[in-house]
Amino acid sequence: MLKKIHSLLYLFWLELKRTIFKVKYVAEVDVTDNCNLRCTHCYHFHGRDDLETKELPLSEWKKRFINLHKAGIRFILLVGGEPALRCDVLMLADKIFPFIYVITNGTIKIPNEFNHRLFVSLDGMQKINDSIRGDGVFLKVMENYSGDKRVIINATITKDNYQELEDLIKIAKERGFRGVACNIYTPSIGYRGPMFITEEERKPIINELKRIKSLYPTYFLLSKAMIKWYEYPDHRNSCYWGDTVLHLDVSWNTRRCFANADCSNCGCLAGSLQNPVGLIKSPLEMRKLAPII
Ligand code: SF4
Ligand code: SF4
Repeated sequence: MLKKIHSLLYLFWLELKRTIFKVKYVAEVDVTDNCNLRCTHCYHFHGRDDLETKELPLSEWKKRFINLHKAGIRFILLVGGEPALRCDVLMLADKIFPFIYVITNGTIKIPNEFNHRLFVSLDGMQKINDSIRGDGVFLKVMENYSGDKRVIINATITKDNYQELEDLIKIAKERGFRGVACNIYTPSIGYRGPMFITEEERKPIINELKRIKSLYPTYFLLSKAMIKWYEYPDHRNSCYWGDTVLHLDVSWNTRRCFANADCSNCGCLAGSLQNPVGLIKSPLEMRKLAPII
């Protein structure tokens, strides 16, 4: 308990330092451009058929992570592609950074020794999830992670699956996951195809999120403030995640957010989370989303 309080105070201190001295301490890093899936809504691969997918040696990641740590980074979000394809890089990060989140598709089990928060993607019950993510994915996630308290199920909500969220919550509870969170589908910059969600189409989705929040106040891990963020999709002018977090792709180029995400139609969980101090400001609503410390 004392360790937890100490770590939360440390986070608070890092945020204070960032506010005063503009020193970044959170980074979002693509650890690979490879993925074993090709989800229909993926913005990582959208329009990037020429993506160079050569893997970097661990020694290169070691240099990069040490440099990030020297530059003040203490909280790192590891994404991809599929980061579980590089469990060696995850284990290396574990040795260097105190706070780690991983976003994974859940089909490759990350070893239990990696004791950090995992956001595992499922986009509905088996039929609809597998129509988006591929045959067999739903059952594989259940097989790999049922009962694993590191895991928060993270759904990408679309016009087609938002009415399945409640069923997903029920099964996640049954299977012993820590809780359920969600993004609203965020398009790649320039995408205006059938999955695009207009402001009108967003309204019933938001109403459903509010309804679910009232039914599962502690298990559905969006705070009321996060649902409010989702109500207004255009965050081009201001976004903690875009403005104050260091974002790096595999080639170590900086960017504003994940891959090509469109800030004018944002539904990113990271954006809605805002400032990590929010974890302290609304402890009852946010405690389950906190990093493992
Ligand atoms: S698992 Fe993630 S990175 Fe891989 S295709 Fe699906 S959305 Fe894209
Ligand atoms: S896509 Fe969303 S979370 Fe990312 S920087 Fe833009 S507004 Fe923020």
